[in-house]
Amino acid sequence: MPPTRLRPPNVNAAQWTANGDALGAVDLTARANQIYGANVFSPAEQRSRLPKDVYKRLQQTLDNGKPLDEALADSVAAAMKDWALEKGATHYTHWFQPLTGLTAEKHDSFYAPTGDGTALAEFSGGELIQGEPDASSFPTGGIRATFEARGYTAWDPSSPAFILENPNGALLCIPTAFASWTGEALDQKIPLLRSMDALSKSAVRALRLFGDEQTQRVYTTVGPEQEYFLVDEQYFYERPDLINTGRTLFGAKPPKGHELDDHYFGSIPERILAYMLESERELQKLGVPVKTRHNEVAPNQYELAPIFENSNVSSDHQQLTMQVLQNVARRYGLVCLMHEKPFAGVNGSGKHNNWSMGTDTGSNLLEPGADPATNIRFLFFCAAVIAAVNKHQALLRASVANAGQDHRLGANEAPPAIISIFLGAELEKAFGSIASGDGDGSTERGVLGLGTPVLPPLPMHGGDRNRTSPFAFTGNKFEFRALGSSMSLAFPNTVLNTIAAEAIDALAEDLENALKAGATLEDAVGQVVKQAYSQNKQVCFMGDNYSEEWHAEAEARGLLNLRTTPDALPWVVDDQTVSVFGNYGVLSERELESRYEVFLEQYVTKLNIEAETAASIARTMILPAAVRHLNEVKASGIEDLVAEVRPVVEELAGSLRALEAVNRDHPADCSTLEHAEYMRDTVIPAMNDVRAIADGLERLVADDLWPRPKYEEMLFIK
Ligand code: ADP
Ligand code: MG
Repeated sequence: MPPTRLRPPNVNAAQWTANGDALGAVDLTARANQIYGANVFSPAEQRSRLPKDVYKRLQQTLDNGKPLDEALADSVAAAMKDWALEKGATHYTHWFQPLTGLTAEKHDSFYAPTGDGTALAEFSGGELIQGEPDASSFPTGGIRATFEARGYTAWDPSSPAFILENPNGALLCIPTAFASWTGEALDQKIPLLRSMDALSKSAVRALRLFGDEQTQRVYTTVGPEQEYFLVDEQYFYERPDLINTGRTLFGAKPPKGHELDDHYFGSIPERILAYMLESERELQKLGVPVKTRHNEVAPNQYELAPIFENSNVSSDHQQLTMQVLQNVARRYGLVCLMHEKPFAGVNGSGKHNNWSMGTDTGSNLLEPGADPATNIRFLFFCAAVIAAVNKHQALLRASVANAGQDHRLGANEAPPAIISIFLGAELEKAFGSIASGDGDGSTERGVLGLGTPVLPPLPMHGGDRNRTSPFAFTGNKFEFRALGSSMSLAFPNTVLNTIAAEAIDALAEDLENALKAGATLEDAVGQVVKQAYSQNKQVCFMGDNYSEEWHAEAEARGLLNLRTTPDALPWVVDDQTVSVFGNYGVLSERELESRYEVFLEQYVTKLNIEAETAASIARTMILPAAVRHLNEVKASGIEDLVAEVRPVVEELAGSLRALEAVNRDHPADCSTLEHAEYMRDTVIPAMNDVRAIADGLERLVADDLWPRPKYEEMLFIK
């Protein structure tokens, strides 16, 4: 029998020059190659194409968050269609984000037959504003039965339409929201937009107390950092686990990992850089402001970060970024892995969510200023964030829960499942002295930056760093570091905005009362910040979040450690969550319940796919390879070797039967949460047992008999 594994494929895998299509073709100095935003129906494009008064009314509608009137829509639709046709688009789609966390699209042609054998391009305001995809197959968590399967998509004019190119055509994508016919949100965008409105109202109310009469709207901003792996597509397609689940369900740790720290910020291999350059060009055409790129910690792991934008646009752009990174990889013979943990024993991938609040007049509310006025404003908003994160720590944890994340959070490579805040030494000292009122009073005033002369201004830009903290202040924003690499930004940011809105309102109320009681603004803010920080400082932690001591201390402080997805998700429907989401009109109890149900179902389904794939690979690939190896060893007649191999093969068969049994015997008539707990407590351990033995066999069985690419190949051949 011919050997099943040969080395030449590895050499083939490392070939790449023919795969890319941009290399050598682009003259970046040519005007035609100034591509930023080329495929976006941007405000500038709108201004040049829309009648003046239409453009003005559209902007006013957007600025005031008012609903759109249909006459306006007709005019915008006509301009958008002309623009899209000039760009070669033949079809349009309402582009939306169902609860799968992915994007969805159904394409409609612009062209309708005229009856005389020709076709005419048509696109009305009605078609722009509303679509009705057959929605029966999207997850809804029981919000609507299939007999009432209608779902509506509604144009979101605040996120610009764009064109997706394909070698054989182009498609106009119109960002839309997706709701049931009864008006309930079935997507990620609606609650995000609602939460941005909620936060804006609360923040503007607070700003008025600070004497700001100008600001009309406050936007939350997000700059996400995306981590991902690249593997050669040849290996990808030889691994059913990667194809089915996005992660390797088997694979022994290679002799070389990232112990040498030789990858992080290392020079980027040429093939990878070529891929990055082309991905970034595609993203720039779509108006995604990509900015930085670098190697990450693990071998073959990379990172991309854009400049921040408002949360809604940033969230849409993030979905596009994931899609473009995956599409372009194929042109270079690569596959881009967004799974949170593609390789066991190697760092997984996350997404850092840099978050702040900015006014429409251009100031960042989390930016400590040089003058006393901006400093007290900063302290107020910062204290509100601390209070919000402390109160809703469990909900924040739940907002980043999924099956992939359970490999990461708490595994000393990503922040722990315990949510805490890192403020940095100077800021913690500032809050500490405000809270204790210690010192001679001048320190307190000095730290606040209130006295004259203004004593040490608040710290900050850059500041110190703590890579182990899940929620870190980084100079002018908070960095929520616990998101998974495959995640949509929408839900975590919906949570952040909503809980921040609640905390800002609570602090604003205290501030109002203190002012009414006759305090000066400085003293009133001092009182409010002091109280908020004293009550919530338990959530602030400066030390090493990976240490054992922190786990013990966090428990003593009463912070929650929700280790797994089934531990965390019930907080999505906790009374405290229902109350804040209801009060701010972001998600009703029914909408929250539907999300809870969908998230749990996804956990169960993903793990079931993993467990069945694992059983199938073990049964049809690994066991046969092990048996062949055993036969060869037997044929050698060396009894010692037989005694070494045979028990391991038997163990594999035994653990495999156990996995097959738990895959078959799922509990019947139980809640989705109980089903999820069964996956966690029974199925995952059975998978882990099979894997441990199989990975041992990988080190035992003749290399030419081993049926699949190994970690050292997938991670180091590029
Ligand atoms: P660093 O703080 O590490 O020096 P940057 O200031 O460039 O780096 O920011 C890192 C990330 O934070 C980037 O993705 C950036 O878009 C994002 N970011 C910067 N300022 C803000 C802000 N005001 N709101 C949200 N994200 C921001
Ligand atoms: Mg990083």
